[in-house]
Amino acid sequence: MVRLDIIGLARGSIEAARWTDGRPGRLDVTTEAFDWVAVLDDDAFDRHAPARRHPECPERLAAARDGLRAALPASSQRRLAVRDATVAELERVHSRAHLSAMSAALDGRFRSLDADTYVSPGSRDAAFRAAGAAAVLGDALARGEVRRGFGLLRPPGHHAERDRAMGFCLFNNVAVAASSARAAGARRVAVVDWDVHHGNGTQQIFESDPSVLFISLHQWPLYPGTGAPEDIGRGPAVGTTANLALPPGSGPEDYAHAFRVVVRPLLASFGADVLLVSAGYDAHVRDPLGAMRLDAATYGAMASELAAAADALGHGKVGFILEGGYDLQALEASVSETVRGATGATQSLPDGRPSPAAAAAVESTRRALEPHHALLARPLR
Ligand SMILES: [Zn+2]
Repeated sequence: MVRLDIIGLARGSIEAARWTDGRPGRLDVTTEAFDWVAVLDDDAFDRHAPARRHPECPERLAAARDGLRAALPASSQRRLAVRDATVAELERVHSRAHLSAMSAALDGRFRSLDADTYVSPGSRDAAFRAAGAAAVLGDALARGEVRRGFGLLRPPGHHAERDRAMGFCLFNNVAVAASSARAAGARRVAVVDWDVHHGNGTQQIFESDPSVLFISLHQWPLYPGTGAPEDIGRGPAVGTTANLALPPGSGPEDYAHAFRVVVRPLLASFGADVLLVSAGYDAHVRDPLGAMRLDAATYGAMASELAAAADALGHGKVGFILEGGYDLQALEASVSETVRGATGATQSLPDGRPSPAAAAAVESTRRALEPHHALLARPLR
């Protein structure tokens, strides 16, 4: 039988094809995957607003929206309808006690839940809508309706634990997205968290769940103090938590090294049906809360790397969910580069040598996980 072999792909269009009997062929097929990005956004996210100056403020979302628009013309954006999360969706990742506590706390008044975490009159709508948008994204990815998505969500979520709001986070949006993807048929979901802070909530929610791989790249030491390389999951899920606890001052070469030695082989080894990204931008060199040295281009390169990993798994499904990032200029530029990197403007991670301290941190993680993933069992380059 003579078949048509596709021999070249660029930006989702088949550029060249050849019949297996040698005749040249041509197909002008444009797959929809790379031509549009699902965008999840809602006015409610602006109404979570602090009573006084706070780094987690609505202006962040305006900057992120500007960044997304700069990278993606309106014709390449598909707005997905968002809605509030249901109790059932929230209860997949949070305890009933947490939902009761949040319902009581979100009573239309300004309050401080802890030294960092506020709620405001608009927070109830924002929190339920952000988690609902995450559920919509996870569901659409799992069903194959979306292959690239970006949730411009506030409040952020990755510090929220099963039982507790903390670190500016009320509900764990990315965890809701992951569990919704599972409920919609994804057998395995990977979450990569590149926020400068450890995603303690996401780790805690999934640390005993072998169907969710959680990989965090974070500054160590830093708030909230969790995320040691030795934390690799519990019980049946040993090997499905990876913590890259990088030293302050880590830059593009250090993140590139972590991707090459741990993130890339781990994603290939785990074989997720859906990839989610806790996309925080506070490891940017300008960020006031972190002490890392990333630039916008590195976020683009990491996004490109993760999109390529998802493509290599045969489905190309990647959903980005906004977490932190507190310098508005850095946030805007980095969201732009993320979207470009995820939609085909391939950017490579830098080749330079990592610092000795970062290389040692990455090696700790590799060594902890090596017994559980054959692809990690190779010497450090
Ligand atoms: Zn953060």
